[in-house]
Amino acid sequence: MNYDVIIIGAGPGGIYSAYELTKLSPNLKVAVFEEGHELAKRHCPIDGDKIKSCIHCNSCSIMSGFGGAGAFSDGKYNITNDFGGTLYKYIGKNKALELMEYVDKINLEYGGEGTKLYSTAGTGFKKLCIQNGLHLLDASVRHLGTDINYIVLGHLYDYLKDKVDFYFDTAVETVKALESGYEIVCPKESFTCGKCIISVGRSGSKWMEKVCKELNISTLSNRVDLGVRVELPAEVFSHITDELYESKIVYRTQKYEDLVRTFCMNPRGAVVNENTNGIVTVNGHSYEDPKKQTNNTNFALLVAKHFTDPFKDSNGYGESIARLSNMLGGGVIVQRFGDLIRGHRSSQSDIDESFTTPTLNASPGDLSLVLPKRILDGIIEMIYALDKVAPGTANDDTLLYGVEVKFYNMEVLVNEHLETNYKGLYVIGDGSGITHSLSHASASGVFVAREIAG
Ligand SMILES: Cc1cc2nc3c(=O)[nH]c(=O)nc-3n(C[C@H](O)[C@H](O)[C@H](O)COP(=O)(O)OP(=O)(O)OC[C@H]3O[C@@H](n4cnc5c(N)ncnc54)[C@H](O)[C@@H]3O)c2cc1C
Repeated sequence: MNYDVIIIGAGPGGIYSAYELTKLSPNLKVAVFEEGHELAKRHCPIDGDKIKSCIHCNSCSIMSGFGGAGAFSDGKYNITNDFGGTLYKYIGKNKALELMEYVDKINLEYGGEGTKLYSTAGTGFKKLCIQNGLHLLDASVRHLGTDINYIVLGHLYDYLKDKVDFYFDTAVETVKALESGYEIVCPKESFTCGKCIISVGRSGSKWMEKVCKELNISTLSNRVDLGVRVELPAEVFSHITDELYESKIVYRTQKYEDLVRTFCMNPRGAVVNENTNGIVTVNGHSYEDPKKQTNNTNFALLVAKHFTDPFKDSNGYGESIARLSNMLGGGVIVQRFGDLIRGHRSSQSDIDESFTTPTLNASPGDLSLVLPKRILDGIIEMIYALDKVAPGTANDDTLLYGVEVKFYNMEVLVNEHLETNYKGLYVIGDGSGITHSLSHASASGVFVAREIAG
């Protein structure tokens, strides 16, 4: 079968490419190939209380399927060039912001109406941070929440399903360049198209590397972020989260001058498992619906690790550390802050007696056996720094879950049209290594659709 445009991956990048193409060029024949299931069929077996370790489903419902890695996320759309990716380097800062705002508008139209847009503009918290050696990054953030995010995705699918051909449970094996256009090779049959948008996200990182090698598309090595997810009573951060919802705070450690930053803050949220290529790491989310909220707030503390020659496999490094935690804990490990600084493993009774009730059923353990000393030292220093702006952060009963790893794809060499050295072959979203967030990935999808539409 032949299509005008084939999109590989139905995450935010792929969805927004498809959406914009149907709006601007309704006559184009468009198909979306997705290795995961359609939205309604996405269920992870380790989401319940009984199974703690990954049972390696053929397609991981957390990371794959309609909605991509973002389907069960907190749905925080950060409208900023300060973090979330470097799309602005390719398309310009104003264009990037304009597209993120456009995506926000669509999200509101498709079910997100009434959700809050938070902003750091004019906040007094910035001054408090500076006074304590912390730096608050500027951003506006739309918080859809896991529940509304799911509704928006459902409505987008209802809009798209009759206009675009969806092939779910269909992993593309490879992409071949033809004299004119591309052959998209799937397990049972092949398809052809004039233009191809690759939007395979983080879960498609290894596949992306393989395709780049086969097609001789250059890539640059990238970084990996390592750290823990912090969980504490929501009151400790409520003066910040009530005003800003999510705050990205950066701290430079005194010991090594490393940068440690907060990431993905979930007021009254829950800590969850994340699965990347069969390795279980930790993440967090929260609901907009007050009935589904918890008494805790969680956020990640991450340290970025860049490698220089001869080592290039930053993701492999992150994976090895995550594997170590899986080996020791069978999955994610949880430890009380007080136990960590006193150098002993948390036991189940330590966790049961903790004043902070965990929202994830993780294995009590010792994070100092998993995380490199330099990274752990930085995290401990940052917890004490945060304690000055949010007293209670460094309480003994603050829970630390590990490990949290942010894998970044190799950056694929594309031009200012997000096009590779092959005409009509675009690479967007997190799979390109250029974006690392819902808003940037979605904006990159709108951008290429407009390029194709003309
Ligand atoms: C638990 C969690 C919470 C998060 N919370 C937030 C948040 O609040 N805010 C935020 O900005 N970001 C968040 N993120 C990150 C965000 O989800 C990603 O940045 C975003 O989804 C990237 O979009 P994408 O379209 O580039 O890739 P993805 O969403 O990863 O989608 C790629 C899709 O491609 C498919 N695919 C891969 N390879 C193939 C192949 N060979 N053939 C066919 N299909 C393939 C995958 O199955 C996947 O569905 C979160 C991520 C997780 C896991």
